[in-house]
Amino acid sequence: MLFGKNFSDHMFLMNYDENKGWHDPRIIPYQTLSLAPSTMVFHYGQELFEGLKAYRTKNGEIQLFRPEKNIERMNNTSRRLCIPEIDPSDALQAIKEIVKTDSDWVPHEADHSLYIRPFIIATDPFIGVKPSSTYLFMIILSPVGSYYPEGINPVKIYVENEYVRAVKGGIGASKAGANYAASLKGQDKAKHLGYTQVLWLDGVERKYIDEVGTMNVFFVIDGVVKTPALEGSILPGVTRDSCIHILKSWGYKVEETRVALQEIIDASRNGKLNEAFGTGTAAVISPIGTLNNGGEEIIINNAEIGPIAKKLYDTITGIQYGEIKDEFGWTLTV
Ligand SMILES: *Cc1c(COP(=O)(O)O)cnc(C)c1O
Repeated sequence: MLFGKNFSDHMFLMNYDENKGWHDPRIIPYQTLSLAPSTMVFHYGQELFEGLKAYRTKNGEIQLFRPEKNIERMNNTSRRLCIPEIDPSDALQAIKEIVKTDSDWVPHEADHSLYIRPFIIATDPFIGVKPSSTYLFMIILSPVGSYYPEGINPVKIYVENEYVRAVKGGIGASKAGANYAASLKGQDKAKHLGYTQVLWLDGVERKYIDEVGTMNVFFVIDGVVKTPALEGSILPGVTRDSCIHILKSWGYKVEETRVALQEIIDASRNGKLNEAFGTGTAAVISPIGTLNNGGEEIIINNAEIGPIAKKLYDTITGIQYGEIKDEFGWTLTV
């Protein structure tokens, strides 16, 4: 099953205008939209999205994982992009209703899931620059197969020194499509050089680590877990937050801090870089086996998955699929 190519039978829509606010929530068959070429979203990118999944448990139930975090982040992004916020309980109800409507699309196979893509677009038919006065909120669903059909293989990452993804004060902490437009060039470059993803450095000094491609990033140095602090250029991942909670519950020291690239290189040279991994909804945990910095390659943990990454992966997926006890109260049955 190819990610993002197949969509379920229905979609959720809700409109906004200044008189009625968010109104007319509805579920209709999945279909094309008809929009004027002047529609604002096509010109200035006033758009945001979210991404979460619905999981089938062994007893056939369907679970969401921390959906309120996605909704909270969606409204944070809305504020930054001058899009009107949606009542969190309405947004949650919309997600639950569309998943219930297309519940047959939640796969039964192990490690499969139904990807949920809420998004909002600016819909005024106007090509002047200003916040739109009308919007469309939609949710579409796409079944996804196992991210790791052949077991978890560590990825090769290219440290990007030329292009940057985001700067503090910009929209790097928002889940906006525009961030991805800015990231494609670096991603493309890495692919051509034989790497899977880009390691983004801070946009000012190009010294500190921000994120890996579409994932947050963690390093284990001498037993201490470090991840870049949320200082405005990094997307606050739900998986990142979940990892921090779980690691702390296991007694690990977790530091949310600035992580200099040089610190990682030094730790690697001194034999103190135990593990590195990315975190995100799609892959959950993606171990980093190789880092290329300006032609010099660092191999991490013999390019094998490390014990912390493995344990986090098993724990988070175990909670998501209802196989282990949800001590944190993170799952919600649809
Ligand atoms: C969505 C996203 C993540 C991961 O967030 P999760 O909530 O864990 O899926 C990380 N970085 C970027 C740039 C993202 O868009």
